[in-house]
Amino acid sequence: MSPADPPTTTGQTEAAASAALLRVRGLQKSFGSNRVLESVDLTVGRGRVLALIGPSGSGKTTILRCLNGLELPDGGTIEVAAAVIVDRAGGGTASGRGPASSASLTIDFAAKTSPKALGALRDRSAMVFQHYNLFPHKTVLQNVIEGPVIVQRRPVAEVTAEALALLARVGLTDKQGSFPFELSGGQQQRVGIVRALALRPQLLLFDEPTSALDPELVGDVLRLIKELADEGWSMVIVTHELEFAREVAHEIAFVDGGVIVEHGEPKQLLRHPEQERTRQFLHRLL
Ligand code: ADP
Repeated sequence: MSPADPPTTTGQTEAAASAALLRVRGLQKSFGSNRVLESVDLTVGRGRVLALIGPSGSGKTTILRCLNGLELPDGGTIEVAAAVIVDRAGGGTASGRGPASSASLTIDFAAKTSPKALGALRDRSAMVFQHYNLFPHKTVLQNVIEGPVIVQRRPVAEVTAEALALLARVGLTDKQGSFPFELSGGQQQRVGIVRALALRPQLLLFDEPTSALDPELVGDVLRLIKELADEGWSMVIVTHELEFAREVAHEIAFVDGGVIVEHGEPKQLLRHPEQERTRQFLHRLL
Protein backbone atom coordinates (compact mmCIF):
# COMPACT_ATOMS: atom_id res chain seq x y z
CA MET A 1 0.00 0.00 0.00
CA SER A 2 1.27 3.43 -0.80
CA PRO A 3 0.84 6.63 1.19
CA ALA A 4 -1.10 7.90 -1.80
CA ASP A 5 -4.00 5.69 -0.82
CA PRO A 6 -7.13 7.72 -0.16
CA PRO A 7 -8.31 8.18 3.42
CA THR A 8 -10.46 5.33 4.61
CA THR A 9 -14.22 5.59 4.43
CA THR A 10 -14.37 5.83 8.20
CA GLY A 11 -12.05 8.81 8.08
CA GLN A 12 -9.33 7.32 10.28
CA THR A 13 -6.05 9.15 10.17
CA GLU A 14 -4.10 8.80 6.98
CA ALA A 15 -1.00 7.84 8.95
CA ALA A 16 -2.76 4.78 10.34
CA ALA A 17 -4.24 3.88 6.99
CA SER A 18 -1.03 4.32 5.00
CA ALA A 19 0.80 1.70 7.03
CA ALA A 20 -2.28 -0.41 7.57
CA LEU A 21 -1.76 -3.85 9.01
CA LEU A 22 -5.47 -4.59 9.14
CA ARG A 23 -8.29 -3.22 7.03
CA VAL A 24 -11.86 -4.24 7.66
CA ARG A 25 -14.64 -3.10 5.35
CA GLY A 26 -18.38 -3.65 5.60
CA LEU A 27 -18.12 -6.50 8.10
CA GLN A 28 -21.52 -8.08 8.75
CA LYS A 29 -22.60 -10.77 11.14
CA SER A 30 -25.98 -12.08 12.24
CA PHE A 31 -26.88 -14.75 14.75
CA GLY A 32 -30.18 -16.06 13.43
CA SER A 33 -32.40 -13.02 12.98
CA ASN A 34 -30.22 -10.92 15.31
CA ARG A 35 -28.10 -8.67 13.11
CA VAL A 36 -25.16 -7.99 15.40
CA LEU A 37 -22.70 -6.33 13.03
CA GLU A 38 -24.40 -4.03 10.53
CA SER A 39 -21.34 -2.88 8.66
CA VAL A 40 -18.07 -2.40 10.46
CA ASP A 41 -15.15 -0.51 8.93
CA LEU A 42 -11.88 -0.18 10.76
CA THR A 43 -8.18 0.12 10.11
CA VAL A 44 -5.26 -0.68 12.38
CA GLY A 45 -1.84 0.61 11.44
CA ARG A 46 1.33 -1.31 12.16
CA GLY A 47 2.40 -0.83 15.74
CA ARG A 48 -0.87 0.96 16.52
CA VAL A 49 -3.41 0.30 19.24
CA LEU A 50 -7.12 0.62 18.60
CA ALA A 51 -9.48 0.51 21.59
CA LEU A 52 -13.11 -0.47 21.05
CA ILE A 53 -15.56 0.95 23.56
CA GLY A 54 -19.34 0.84 23.63
CA PRO A 55 -22.35 -0.51 25.48
CA SER A 56 -22.75 -4.14 26.37
CA GLY A 57 -24.23 -6.09 23.46
CA SER A 58 -23.10 -3.59 20.82
CA GLY A 59 -20.96 -6.14 18.97
CA LYS A 60 -17.42 -5.49 20.23
CA THR A 61 -16.59 -9.09 21.10
CA THR A 62 -18.14 -10.27 17.86
CA ILE A 63 -15.81 -7.95 15.94
CA LEU A 64 -12.78 -9.47 17.70
CA ARG A 65 -14.03 -13.01 17.13
CA CYS A 66 -14.50 -12.30 13.43
CA LEU A 67 -10.97 -10.87 13.22
CA ASN A 68 -9.64 -14.03 14.85
CA GLY A 69 -11.61 -16.38 12.61
CA LEU A 70 -13.64 -17.66 15.59
CA GLU A 71 -16.83 -16.43 13.92
CA LEU A 72 -17.53 -16.55 10.22
CA PRO A 73 -18.78 -13.13 9.04
CA ASP A 74 -21.71 -13.02 6.60
CA GLY A 75 -20.20 -10.28 4.47
CA GLY A 76 -17.45 -7.71 4.19
CA THR A 77 -13.72 -7.98 3.72
CA ILE A 78 -10.76 -8.41 6.02
CA GLU A 79 -7.29 -7.63 4.73
CA VAL A 80 -4.09 -8.31 6.67
CA ALA A 81 -0.84 -6.95 5.27
CA ALA A 82 2.21 -9.18 4.87
CA ALA A 83 4.31 -9.67 7.98
CA VAL A 84 7.49 -7.71 8.34
CA ILE A 85 9.91 -10.21 9.77
CA VAL A 86 11.99 -8.56 12.43
CA ASP A 87 15.46 -9.76 13.28
CA ARG A 88 14.93 -10.26 16.98
CA ALA A 89 18.60 -11.03 17.55
CA GLY A 90 19.18 -7.52 16.22
CA GLY A 91 16.93 -6.12 18.92
CA GLY A 92 14.11 -5.05 16.64
CA THR A 93 10.66 -4.28 17.92
CA ALA A 94 7.82 -6.74 17.90
CA SER A 95 5.89 -4.72 15.36
CA GLY A 96 4.64 -6.84 12.53
CA ARG A 97 6.46 -9.91 13.74
CA GLY A 98 4.90 -13.10 12.50
CA PRO A 99 5.52 -16.56 11.21
CA ALA A 100 7.71 -16.53 8.13
CA SER A 101 4.81 -17.72 5.98
CA SER A 102 2.66 -14.63 6.60
CA ALA A 103 2.01 -13.27 3.15
CA SER A 104 -0.72 -10.66 2.77
CA LEU A 105 -4.22 -12.00 3.07
CA THR A 106 -7.57 -10.75 1.76
CA ILE A 107 -10.83 -12.49 2.49
CA ASP A 108 -14.13 -11.43 0.95
CA PHE A 109 -16.83 -12.98 3.10
CA ALA A 110 -19.53 -12.36 0.50
CA ALA A 111 -17.93 -15.25 -1.38
CA LYS A 112 -17.71 -18.76 0.02
CA THR A 113 -14.90 -18.76 2.57
CA SER A 114 -12.56 -21.73 2.53
CA PRO A 115 -11.47 -23.31 5.82
CA LYS A 116 -7.91 -22.67 4.64
CA ALA A 117 -8.52 -18.92 4.39
CA LEU A 118 -10.07 -18.87 7.86
CA GLY A 119 -7.10 -20.82 9.19
CA ALA A 120 -4.75 -18.29 7.61
CA LEU A 121 -6.71 -15.46 9.25
CA ARG A 122 -6.61 -17.22 12.62
CA ASP A 123 -2.85 -17.60 12.29
CA ARG A 124 -2.28 -13.86 12.03
CA SER A 125 -3.81 -12.80 15.30
CA ALA A 126 -4.00 -14.08 18.86
CA MET A 127 -6.78 -13.45 21.31
CA VAL A 128 -6.60 -12.75 25.04
CA PHE A 129 -9.97 -13.62 26.57
CA GLN A 130 -11.93 -12.04 29.39
CA HIS A 131 -12.04 -15.35 31.29
CA TYR A 132 -8.48 -16.38 30.29
CA ASN A 133 -9.71 -19.63 28.64
CA LEU A 134 -6.70 -21.64 29.77
CA PHE A 135 -6.87 -25.42 29.46
CA PRO A 136 -7.66 -26.45 33.06
CA HIS A 137 -5.99 -29.86 32.86
CA LYS A 138 -2.71 -28.54 31.41
CA THR A 139 0.13 -26.83 33.24
CA VAL A 140 1.06 -23.23 32.58
CA LEU A 141 3.93 -24.25 30.30
CA GLN A 142 1.76 -26.77 28.44
CA ASN A 143 -0.89 -24.09 27.94
CA VAL A 144 1.67 -21.76 26.40
CA ILE A 145 3.36 -24.24 24.04
CA GLU A 146 0.19 -26.05 22.89
CA GLY A 147 -0.72 -23.68 20.02
CA PRO A 148 2.77 -23.12 18.60
CA VAL A 149 3.60 -26.85 18.73
CA ILE A 150 0.29 -28.47 17.73
CA VAL A 151 -1.21 -25.86 15.41
CA GLN A 152 1.87 -24.10 14.05
CA ARG A 153 3.99 -27.25 14.11
CA ARG A 154 7.06 -25.48 15.43
CA PRO A 155 9.85 -27.45 17.15
CA VAL A 156 9.10 -28.23 20.82
CA ALA A 157 12.56 -27.20 22.05
CA GLU A 158 12.42 -23.80 20.33
CA VAL A 159 8.87 -23.11 21.48
CA THR A 160 9.63 -24.20 25.06
CA ALA A 161 12.67 -21.91 25.27
CA GLU A 162 10.60 -19.01 23.99
CA ALA A 163 7.74 -19.83 26.38
CA LEU A 164 10.09 -19.93 29.38
CA ALA A 165 11.58 -16.58 28.40
CA LEU A 166 8.11 -15.08 28.12
CA LEU A 167 7.05 -16.54 31.47
CA ALA A 168 10.20 -15.11 33.05
CA ARG A 169 9.35 -11.74 31.60
CA VAL A 170 5.97 -11.69 33.36
CA GLY A 171 7.40 -13.07 36.63
CA LEU A 172 5.83 -16.52 36.38
CA THR A 173 8.87 -18.78 36.00
CA ASP A 174 8.06 -20.54 39.26
CA LYS A 175 4.50 -21.24 38.07
CA GLN A 176 5.43 -23.08 34.88
CA GLY A 177 4.42 -26.44 36.38
CA SER A 178 1.26 -25.15 38.09
CA PHE A 179 -2.28 -25.68 36.91
CA PRO A 180 -4.56 -22.70 36.21
CA PHE A 181 -6.67 -23.29 39.34
CA GLU A 182 -3.53 -22.79 41.44
CA LEU A 183 -3.05 -19.24 40.08
CA SER A 184 -4.73 -15.93 40.88
CA GLY A 185 -6.85 -14.32 38.18
CA GLY A 186 -4.08 -11.82 37.44
CA GLN A 187 -1.54 -14.62 37.05
CA GLN A 188 -3.90 -16.57 34.80
CA GLN A 189 -4.39 -13.54 32.61
CA ARG A 190 -0.63 -13.00 32.37
CA VAL A 191 -0.39 -16.62 31.20
CA GLY A 192 -3.17 -15.84 28.72
CA ILE A 193 -1.10 -12.96 27.36
CA VAL A 194 2.08 -15.07 27.22
CA ARG A 195 0.13 -17.77 25.38
CA ALA A 196 -0.96 -15.19 22.81
CA LEU A 197 2.60 -13.84 22.39
CA ALA A 198 4.00 -17.36 21.94
CA LEU A 199 1.94 -17.62 18.75
CA ARG A 200 4.01 -14.76 17.30
CA PRO A 201 0.92 -13.07 15.91
CA GLN A 202 0.91 -9.93 13.83
CA LEU A 203 -2.03 -8.63 15.79
CA LEU A 204 -3.00 -9.03 19.45
CA LEU A 205 -6.71 -8.98 20.28
CA PHE A 206 -7.78 -8.30 23.88
CA ASP A 207 -11.38 -8.91 24.91
CA GLU A 208 -11.98 -7.00 28.15
CA PRO A 209 -8.78 -8.46 29.58
CA THR A 210 -9.26 -7.11 33.09
CA SER A 211 -13.01 -7.14 33.61
CA ALA A 212 -13.02 -10.50 35.42
CA LEU A 213 -10.18 -9.49 37.76
CA ASP A 214 -10.36 -8.31 41.35
CA PRO A 215 -9.59 -4.57 41.36
CA GLU A 216 -6.20 -5.01 43.03
CA LEU A 217 -5.05 -7.34 40.23
CA VAL A 218 -6.04 -5.09 37.33
CA GLY A 219 -2.99 -2.83 37.47
CA ASP A 220 -0.39 -5.54 36.76
CA VAL A 221 -2.22 -6.76 33.68
CA LEU A 222 -2.80 -3.25 32.32
CA ARG A 223 0.89 -2.41 32.87
CA LEU A 224 1.89 -5.49 30.86
CA ILE A 225 -0.43 -4.56 28.00
CA LYS A 226 0.94 -1.01 28.04
CA GLU A 227 4.50 -2.36 27.87
CA LEU A 228 3.57 -4.45 24.83
CA ALA A 229 1.99 -1.42 23.18
CA ASP A 230 5.15 0.59 23.85
CA GLU A 231 7.18 -2.18 22.23
CA GLY A 232 5.20 -1.73 19.05
CA TRP A 233 2.75 -4.61 19.05
CA SER A 234 -0.34 -3.93 16.95
CA MET A 235 -3.47 -4.39 19.02
CA VAL A 236 -7.22 -4.16 19.16
CA ILE A 237 -8.48 -3.89 22.74
CA VAL A 238 -12.09 -4.10 23.87
CA THR A 239 -12.23 -2.35 27.21
CA HIS A 240 -14.44 -0.54 29.68
CA GLU A 241 -11.38 1.07 31.26
CA LEU A 242 -11.56 4.48 29.66
CA GLU A 243 -8.52 5.82 31.53
CA PHE A 244 -6.51 2.89 30.25
CA ALA A 245 -7.84 3.37 26.72
CA ARG A 246 -6.83 7.00 26.86
CA GLU A 247 -3.32 6.06 27.97
CA VAL A 248 -2.60 3.11 25.71
CA ALA A 249 -4.60 3.57 22.52
CA HIS A 250 -3.66 5.61 19.49
CA GLU A 251 -7.31 5.62 18.48
CA ILE A 252 -10.61 4.82 20.14
CA ALA A 253 -13.66 3.63 18.24
CA PHE A 254 -17.12 3.84 19.79
CA VAL A 255 -19.26 0.87 18.76
CA ASP A 256 -23.04 0.93 19.04
CA GLY A 257 -25.68 -1.12 17.28
CA GLY A 258 -23.14 -3.05 15.23
CA VAL A 259 -21.46 -0.05 13.61
CA ILE A 260 -18.57 2.20 14.49
CA VAL A 261 -20.44 5.36 15.35
CA GLU A 262 -17.38 7.51 15.83
CA HIS A 263 -13.66 7.21 16.27
CA GLY A 264 -10.70 9.42 16.79
CA GLU A 265 -7.73 10.19 18.97
CA PRO A 266 -8.47 9.30 22.59
CA LYS A 267 -8.39 12.82 24.00
CA GLN A 268 -10.56 14.16 21.24
CA LEU A 269 -13.12 11.37 21.36
CA LEU A 270 -13.38 11.20 25.13
CA ARG A 271 -13.47 14.94 25.71
CA HIS A 272 -15.23 16.22 22.63
CA PRO A 273 -17.29 13.45 21.06
CA GLU A 274 -19.09 14.55 17.93
CA GLN A 275 -22.01 12.15 18.04
CA GLU A 276 -24.86 12.36 20.50
CA ARG A 277 -24.79 8.57 21.05
CA THR A 278 -21.13 8.74 22.05
CA ARG A 279 -21.82 11.64 24.38
CA GLN A 280 -24.62 9.74 26.10
CA PHE A 281 -22.47 6.64 26.53
CA LEU A 282 -19.54 8.59 27.98
CA HIS A 283 -21.83 10.61 30.19
CA ARG A 284 -23.07 7.41 31.81
CA LEU A 285 -19.52 6.19 32.46
CA LEU A 286 -17.62 9.31 33.44
P1 ADP B 1 -20.34 -6.76 23.28
O1 ADP B 1 -18.98 -7.39 23.22
O2 ADP B 1 -20.34 -5.37 22.73
O3 ADP B 1 -20.95 -6.83 24.66
P2 ADP B 1 -21.18 -9.05 21.76
O4 ADP B 1 -20.42 -9.01 20.48
O5 ADP B 1 -20.71 -9.98 22.82
O6 ADP B 1 -21.31 -7.57 22.33
O7 ADP B 1 -22.69 -9.41 21.48
C1 ADP B 1 -23.49 -8.69 20.56
C2 ADP B 1 -24.80 -9.40 20.37
O8 ADP B 1 -24.57 -10.65 19.73
C3 ADP B 1 -25.56 -9.73 21.64
O9 ADP B 1 -26.92 -9.50 21.41
C4 ADP B 1 -25.27 -11.20 21.86
O10 ADP B 1 -26.33 -11.80 22.55
C5 ADP B 1 -25.17 -11.70 20.44
N1 ADP B 1 -24.30 -12.89 20.32
C6 ADP B 1 -22.96 -12.89 20.49
N2 ADP B 1 -22.46 -14.13 20.28
C7 ADP B 1 -23.51 -14.92 19.97
C8 ADP B 1 -23.66 -16.30 19.64
N3 ADP B 1 -22.60 -17.11 19.59
N4 ADP B 1 -24.90 -16.75 19.38
C9 ADP B 1 -25.97 -15.95 19.41
N5 ADP B 1 -25.91 -14.63 19.71
C10 ADP B 1 -24.70 -14.12 19.99
